[in-house]
Amino acid sequence: NKPVYAFEEADSKKRMLLGGKGAGLSEMTRLKLPVPPGFTITTEVCNKYYENNRKLPKYVMPAVMKNIAKMEKKTGKKWNSTKNPLLVSVRSGAAISMPGMMDTILNLGLNEKTVEGFAEQTKNPRFSWDSYRRFIQLFGKVVFGVNDEKFDHVLDAAKAKQGVSDDSKLNVESLKTIVSEYKKICEEHTKRKFPDTPDEQLVLSIEAVFKSWMGERAIVYREKNNITKDIANGTAVNVVTMVFGNMGDDSATGVVFTRNGHNGKKEIEGEYLINAQGEDVVAGVRTGKSIELLKKDMPKSHKELSNACTKLEKHFREPQDIEFTIEQGKFYLLQTRTAKMSAAALVKTSVDMVKEKLITKDKALTRIPAQQLEALLHRTMDESKIKNHKQLAKGIAASPGAASGIVEFDVKRAIELGDTGSKVILVRKETKPEDVPAFFSSEGILTSLGGKSSHAAIVSRGMGKPCIVGCPELKIDYDNNTCTANGVTIKRGDTITIDGSAGTVFIGEVPTVEPKVTKDFEQILDWAQKAKKIGIRANADTPEGAKLARIFGGQGIGLCRTERMFNGSDRINLFVEMIMAENIEERSKILQKLGQLQKSDFIEILKAMEGYEVTIRLLDPPLHEFLPNPEELVEKIQKLESSGNTSEINQAKVVLKRARELAEINPMMGHRGVRVGITYPEIYEMQIRAVFDALVELTKKKVKAHPQIMIPQISSIAELNHIKKIYDSIKKETESKHKMKLKINFGTMIEVVRAALTANELATTAEFFSFGTNDLTQGTFSFSREDVEGKFLPEYMEKELLERNPFQSIDVNGVGSLIKIGVAAGRALRPNMEVGICGEHGGDPSSIKFCHSVGLSYVSASPHRIPIAIVAAAQAAI
Ligand code: PEP
Ligand code: MG
Repeated sequence: NKPVYAFEEADSKKRMLLGGKGAGLSEMTRLKLPVPPGFTITTEVCNKYYENNRKLPKYVMPAVMKNIAKMEKKTGKKWNSTKNPLLVSVRSGAAISMPGMMDTILNLGLNEKTVEGFAEQTKNPRFSWDSYRRFIQLFGKVVFGVNDEKFDHVLDAAKAKQGVSDDSKLNVESLKTIVSEYKKICEEHTKRKFPDTPDEQLVLSIEAVFKSWMGERAIVYREKNNITKDIANGTAVNVVTMVFGNMGDDSATGVVFTRNGHNGKKEIEGEYLINAQGEDVVAGVRTGKSIELLKKDMPKSHKELSNACTKLEKHFREPQDIEFTIEQGKFYLLQTRTAKMSAAALVKTSVDMVKEKLITKDKALTRIPAQQLEALLHRTMDESKIKNHKQLAKGIAASPGAASGIVEFDVKRAIELGDTGSKVILVRKETKPEDVPAFFSSEGILTSLGGKSSHAAIVSRGMGKPCIVGCPELKIDYDNNTCTANGVTIKRGDTITIDGSAGTVFIGEVPTVEPKVTKDFEQILDWAQKAKKIGIRANADTPEGAKLARIFGGQGIGLCRTERMFNGSDRINLFVEMIMAENIEERSKILQKLGQLQKSDFIEILKAMEGYEVTIRLLDPPLHEFLPNPEELVEKIQKLESSGNTSEINQAKVVLKRARELAEINPMMGHRGVRVGITYPEIYEMQIRAVFDALVELTKKKVKAHPQIMIPQISSIAELNHIKKIYDSIKKETESKHKMKLKINFGTMIEVVRAALTANELATTAEFFSFGTNDLTQGTFSFSREDVEGKFLPEYMEKELLERNPFQSIDVNGVGSLIKIGVAAGRALRPNMEVGICGEHGGDPSSIKFCHSVGLSYVSASPHRIPIAIVAAAQAAI
């Protein structure tokens, strides 16, 4: 590649080489749009500059000067001329736009002599000297690192001396004094003479722009925005003929979107300023006028702008974000790039551009970042109102949406308050299954502990309630019903607002905005449904969840966590009684009642999903999760003892005894899943029977129900076969009792590493597999899914030891390999085996792409994520 390309000769497809700005300028030049002449020094030169110990390679400046000569020809102006000088801007521009992060220099080419020529050319000595003083200030700041304040002092002093308050009122004499003072400041700072020749100014400016690529601001920005070397490697430098929007009332500058960036409407949106420079608009120094008004102010330029917008959109097939300048009535384009739009605008423009035959349906689907659609499915905070509120804390964004309410720490009170119509935010250190009834009555959940796959996070996502977890700065004091963060204490009853999409907690009530699923969004979903190959099912465990999933386009349930079905306030006590039962007779009696409740729920869920598969997973969590933790019980007993209620004390002591019996040091790897089913077979028997009974009833009513039974935490074929025997005998018994053949697929989760490694054995019994990637990730990394995000994970990411949170996006190399082993082993024995995924990754776009690529039958995601999953699945297939 050459080091330097004139705009008209560059291949604008080479964004990595030319940067976004350079590519845009050369493309516009080729389209014969009015772009001031100029050239681009490539990003390759930037890298050479660093390899060369921060020095420009020798061949660069001769190439630059050749291009300056070309510019002279095109503009009729002369470099370093005392009559008609060519002035340029020197601008950064990486492949990915990094607004405001790197440096720019304007008005380059002015010195004591050329400034006079410029005055003659513009017939405006005041303007000319003002441009010169601006140049020295910017050059001093960017190239030499002089503190801006020093220049400001001089400017203020000059204004005071002349007795004016506005920069624009400074006369030529004052400006000349300022110029000489400014130079002195630079010379004192650098201990060298201020560079006077345009040649030297240009070399130093080019180097300064390259230097700014490794400036702290730019580095932090790249880190925060995940701009890695493969998408932007170094900055290019664009040298562009100066055009002036500040040459009087027939000059202006502005920034527009070719379509409305908020709602996607087909209208030019943006603002402009008369008699101003581009930086004034971007920096927001003066408030711009709405672009509509340009039609009246400068009708000819407005027409040119509007034609340029149409032409650019047609060419790029994307709404553009454009900068323009009008110099004494002449219209120029200075930049074009793909407009960054809101989710709503992306959806609307996608549909509109297909109608306008600008893009295909495939393009319409792939141009929308699936993740961004989340904003359309949940309440969001009113952006314009956030500034009126103080942020209390920031945690992990665990379940999207925004909600306000009064703080309540106590689960029982949260239920009472919620049921009487108050809006409550439940604030806990962590949550347990027994707390779930309070989730129903709360607007949102905030916990100081836990990560993205902690209990509170998963349950909230399932319910579509906003939730923030892992917020260690929030210190919760249950005894005094307060929580404190950043020096602010919030009491029970105080109002807060949480944003589960950003993880932010605000004090007071921040107004929120209702989501709406528009016709355009429905159209996108419809196209996506047709384009995708992989199935989309829901993680749902209530009839409401199943119905919602179906409305959103879910085709079946990939995971019904049956333990969740015990969370209802009408049954949680029954479940606890079952755990407390002292012998099998007692337990069986309670189980029978629970079986009735489960059966009726299964019936409702299966009905809601008629025609589709519903995978029912047998009980998974360890039993002690349903009991209060022993520490809390001890405290409770102590409190009760001071009040002396003996029967309550005794009751609490019994629970404490059982809770201690069941307690485990490492419960996630403890007595859970199939291990509970093996040691308490009566529980699994009850559940299997409830599924069969539900199917019998529905079959009699001619409802097309397709339940399948799935066993959690399997690590060996021996375990699976042990449960299969129970399943077989209940099946046989039910079939002969009702004289009908019943088909319920029997399958296993693969969420234990050994299960993935012995999937060939498991497939001899299992009719389907479902990867539980939450536990599989936990086991593969030996990272606790409950703790990791609040502990060392952030530091791991900062130190680049992990690129992404593996509990959010599938770790393709590790967990992904286990999935591939499982798929291959299963399908070797059963070629059409249904293999899906039901961990939280099922709703994550990049994980969905992986699942599609390894040929999974479906992904299963919480109901509210289904639309995102559908679009992501379509994108994977396109
Ligand atoms: C899993 O482990 O991925 C899974 C779906 O099960 P749970 O999250 O209920 O442990
Ligand atoms: Mg699991």
